Formats: sequence, C-alpha cells, structure tokens
Amino acid sequence: MFPSLTARRGVAWRSLCAFAMRFSVLVSILGALSLTACMADDDDHSSHQHPGHVPQGTPPELPRLQSKPLTRLDTAKLARSTARMGDVDPTGSIERVSGNRRITQKVLLLGATGTEPAYLAAKAALDRIGVPYRTLLAANETLTDALLSDGISQCHFSGVIVATSSLGYVNPTSGAWESAMDPAEWQSLADFEAACSARELTWYGWPGAEYGLAPAGGFDWTTPVDATLTAAGKTQFVRVRDNATIKYRNAAGYRATITNPSTTTALVTDAGGVLVAAHTAPDGRELMISTVDGSPYLTHSIVLEYDFVRWLTRGMFVGKKRAYMTPQIDDLFLANDMWNLATHTNDPTVQFRITGTDLTAFSTWQRGFQQRLPAGSSFDTWLAFNGMGTLTSEYSDTTLLAAARTAGNRLSWMNHTWDHENLDNATRAQARAEVSDNCRLANQMRLARFNCNELVSPDVSGLNNVNALAGMVDSGVLSVVSDTSITEAIRPSNPGNNPSFNVGRANPLNPRIYQVPRHPTSIFYDVSTPETETDEYNTIYRNYYGRDLSYAEVLDKDSEFGLYYLLQGDIDPLMFHQANLKNYGNGRSIYGDWVEAVANKYLTYFDAPILTLRQNGISGEMQARGKFNACNVTATLVEGLAPTLELRTTAGCVVPVTGLAASSYGAVETYAGEPTTSITMGANQTKLIPLATASTGLTR
Ligand SMILES: [Zn+2]
Repeated sequence: MFPSLTARRGVAWRSLCAFAMRFSVLVSILGALSLTACMADDDDHSSHQHPGHVPQGTPPELPRLQSKPLTRLDTAKLARSTARMGDVDPTGSIERVSGNRRITQKVLLLGATGTEPAYLAAKAALDRIGVPYRTLLAANETLTDALLSDGISQCHFSGVIVATSSLGYVNPTSGAWESAMDPAEWQSLADFEAACSARELTWYGWPGAEYGLAPAGGFDWTTPVDATLTAAGKTQFVRVRDNATIKYRNAAGYRATITNPSTTTALVTDAGGVLVAAHTAPDGRELMISTVDGSPYLTHSIVLEYDFVRWLTRGMFVGKKRAYMTPQIDDLFLANDMWNLATHTNDPTVQFRITGTDLTAFSTWQRGFQQRLPAGSSFDTWLAFNGMGTLTSEYSDTTLLAAARTAGNRLSWMNHTWDHENLDNATRAQARAEVSDNCRLANQMRLARFNCNELVSPDVSGLNNVNALAGMVDSGVLSVVSDTSITEAIRPSNPGNNPSFNVGRANPLNPRIYQVPRHPTSIFYDVSTPETETDEYNTIYRNYYGRDLSYAEVLDKDSEFGLYYLLQGDIDPLMFHQANLKNYGNGRSIYGDWVEAVANKYLTYFDAPILTLRQNGISGEMQARGKFNACNVTATLVEGLAPTLELRTTAGCVVPVTGLAASSYGAVETYAGEPTTSITMGANQTKLIPLATASTGLTR
C-alpha cells in the first residue's frame, strides 16, 4: 500500500529509544521539579542516565509547604461587630449602602504577607475555577471603605476570603506578632460585609468566640486526621461525596466545640471535634471557617475548595470546575527498546511491540473501567499510532492490526506520523508526507474518531522548525502536544508548559498550530510489567526514598500526581507509550493500574464525572480560557424587582457562569448537577441577563 514510504524509515525512529530513555527520566524529574520549586534542596545524587542539565534527584512527590499553628491574637482588640442593617450607624460609614444594590461578583482575598500556605491555596483555587478576585496583602496595603464600596449603592465585592484568622504576621518594625490589619480595617470589613451581604470564608482559622466556637485541642502537621461531612455539611458541600473520608494530611489545625448551636453549625467533624463550621454573627454576617491549614498541593484543601467558593458566592459565580483525564498512548504499532531487569538500564537490544492479545485485553479493561465511573463521565484513551508499523514487511505479527480492526468503535485514534521520523530537521514536504500518509491509512482503516487535524509529533519534535510546521499545516494539523517539562528557563523561545492554568500556546513560528501542553508520568516508556516499572523507578529514586518501593507504593506515589491533576481540574493530556498496554496478567496493564490508582483515589472524594476531551477539544478549551483571562470580565448582580446579572468585557471571550441556566444567553451545560451557561461576549460589550429572584441567594 505504501511501499515507497518504507524507504524513509531510517535509523531515526529506532533511535527514539535512546532519546526517549533520557526523555522519560527528564520529564519525570522536571515534571516534579515544576511542582517542587519551593522545597528545600535534597541530597540525592542518583546518577542513572541523567542528562547533564537535569537537576539530580528532584523528589517525585508534590511539595509540602510548612504548616504552622496559629498564634492566638486578642480578638478584643479586633472590632468585628456592626450595627444591624437599618440601624443608625454612629460612624456614618458604609451602612449607607441601601436600596437596590449593585454587587460586583468578585472575591476579595485578604492575606497578611501572601506567603501563608492558606493564602496560596485560596488564590490557586480562584485561579483554577476562574472566579474574578482581587488580592490585598494587609502588611503592605490598607483596607479602606472606598476600596470596599462607594458607600451608596455599589458593593465592590460579593465575598471575602480571609486567608488566616486575624491575619497574624511578625511586624517588621516592632518584631511583635500582631494582626496585619488594625482595628479600623477590621471594622471597615465587618461593616462592608453587613451592608453588602458579603459572606466571609476563613481558610485557616483559630476557633474563637467570633465564630461561635471554642478550641478543643490542636494538632500539628504530622498528625493525620480523618474527618467526615455532617448532615448539614452534606447539603453545603455538594460536590464532595456524602460518605467521603476527608483525609487531612501534612496540615496543622484545631478541633473545636460549638458554643452556641443556634448560630453555629458544624459542617466537617472528626471524632474529636469540629473542623469546618458556618456561623451567623449577631449582625447577620455569614461566616465560614476551616480550622485546618491548607496549601495549593494538599489533597484536603483542593477537595474542599470548590464548595468553599460555591458557598462564598452563594452558588452563582463566573468560572467553572471539571475533572479531566485525557491519556494519550504513543507509538502504537511500533516496537521500542525496553528496560533490562538484569542490568537495570534501558537495553536497545530488547525490542517489544504489543500484540493483538494485549490490545484486546486493554479494550476489555477500559470498558469495565468506564462502567465504574460516575454517570456523565466520558473517559477514553487516545491511541497515537504510526502507520508504518502496520506493514508486515516491518513486523511479522499481524494480530495487533487485526485486533485494532476488530475493536472498531471501542478505540479512539490519533496521528503520531507515519514512521516516527524526528521532524526537527524535516523539510516541508517530508513533514507533510509524515502527517498525511498516516491520515490516509487511518481513513482507509476507518480508525474510530481519527481526525487529521490532531497530531502528536514524534518525540514532540518539529515545533521549532518552520518547515516542519508548514508541512503540518499543509496536512490540516491544528493542534500538537508540547512537553510540560520544557519550561521558559529551558527553552525561552517556545516553552512547552502552561503559561497559566489550562492555557497552552499558539506556536510562535506558526500560530495556526496550537500547542497543548502534555504531562509525563513515571510510567516509563520502556516498561511493560510491574517488575520493570518498579525496577526503573527504584533505580532513579532509590536515593530519594532511601529504600526501594514496592509496585503498590510506586503506583501510590505517582498516582498522587494524577489525582492532583484531576482535583485541580487540570485539562492537559497525559503521556503514555505502547509498551505500557501489555497484558502482564489477568488482563491487567501498568497503564490501567495507574489510571485505576488515580481514579480510585478520586472516587473516594467525588462522584462528579471524569471527562476526556479529544485534543482539539482541549485546544479549544485552552484558547477560550486564554481569551477569558484577557477580557477583563466584570459581573455585577443588579438588585431590584427584576434582578439581573450584568456582564461586561473589554475584549471578545466566552464567560462561563456556574449556577446560572440561561439558555437564551448561551449554551447551558450541566456538570455534577449544576448548570454552567457559556456566554459569548464581544469587545466592550455589556449583556444584561435576567435572574430568577431566588437565584441571587440574597435574603437580606
Ligand atoms: Zn513516539
């Protein structure tokens, strides 16, 4: 069928082995590094095949920010009471906000210095979900009445996050531990909250009387605490599973008792006390407090963040959050070199290519796995294939191709080029042929869901070669993957990481091609069994852990990254390779083991769907998120007999509003029982969206 093409098969694709060996080590280490920038240096000198420029022995674990107890500040000095609405305000300040208010749907995030882990956790949550917010670091900036409202009818925020109760910090002048806000600022905040019906969430707080709580003992960051939702908590934390065990780890905190049940409700508790509570202050202000520390990397913090934000915004907010998992398996139909258990190195003399039995077992496993996922899930695995590997002149085994045909619609396919020739020095014609020859074969074989406009280039090559890019465009390519481990520092001209959350990059040499950043995992390209995976992992990370890990431990460690991506709502695809699909026994593969390890952890917390998008779908979401980040959306709740949501943007973008079902104004998608309306906005456009009175959630 393609006899002339086989001639192009040089040594290049076979040498992917040597490259990919380094690559898979490098990406694992750098992938971890990008998450561990704030960790202390370690003393690991694991030397296995690290290229010279790769930092040695970076831990293959998520970072741990130091979590400290809170030093109690004297709240008597921090005035927090206000007159009730309608009362005469002796200070004559903000309580004049009255009548039909205009409430900007924006969160005010208060930190002391901005280094508090809880502050970083809250900021990361708002960034990921896409909620408009403004930060104020009280050590550097004064909170004024004018910043909060116009004192007449305009409220500048709809909710407040206080990173740590009392915003304690070491005053650099006095050396004393004190609140970064003075009593007048606390009073302004309370006045504003009362006047504007703004809820206040304390991400990590001391359980004081101002929350209707009393302390019942503290714990340090080494103490594991397993907690559950109370009945009230189940109604408040709608995305978290009712029966979830919330595992607080690596975080200091306090247990509390409720001093006044008529004003304070426990939401999360363990056997020893209350860990999250809601409180209504005498002046009507609504407060929520978590008495356990958080950080952007801690599971419990990310698990709870969506419902924290949902409560703070009364269930309607700009932004959205989904769980995505999009694995891509490279090199289907090709063989590659494998890890040698005897020498503990990659061995080019050992070549392996999965068979039809492996592919069929994988397909069977995937169907079973899909059935275990929550309703609405769309989990799928994308197989990036090289058509040359289907030729019997290349591989005598015919079972793999037969199994691919038999699987039909049950497998999803994408382009990895005809013969895996590295495209860094390809001519336009060569690149065009590499892409389009494979498209022709895919169409001839009727490979399900294949589209020539999506490409995983071999070794992520060709992205800095203007000729190769032109050849890709000639063939209709719209999106390629980039490598998240290639940071700005490594390649300033065209980094492969996300410039911001869930955003990729238009290729700088050819902006018609969008680069979708893809995460590596520690499931190495050259392993197919638990034994080889574990041996390679231990060879690389033995010095870090100080011992060898078992296969179960390797899966447990590396699935933390997959869980982290899922919990964050990270949309980047994940990289795996054909050898990982081998049926090593009982229909199992190390790829399937990794996916299940991730999903099993996720499913203990959530029954929200796990979504897989095809590459151009991810590209579309990323481009939309990039435009959204740049369009300066302002959403304002306008009160009145017919309340409206007023949207303004300075540039064209699509604004997702969760908690709003307004099909006349945009597509409404329901996820985990909540609607999100995607509203298309033009430059400098204003749209007024009528709201049902109930949907504002305001009861004043
Ligand atoms: Zn490949």
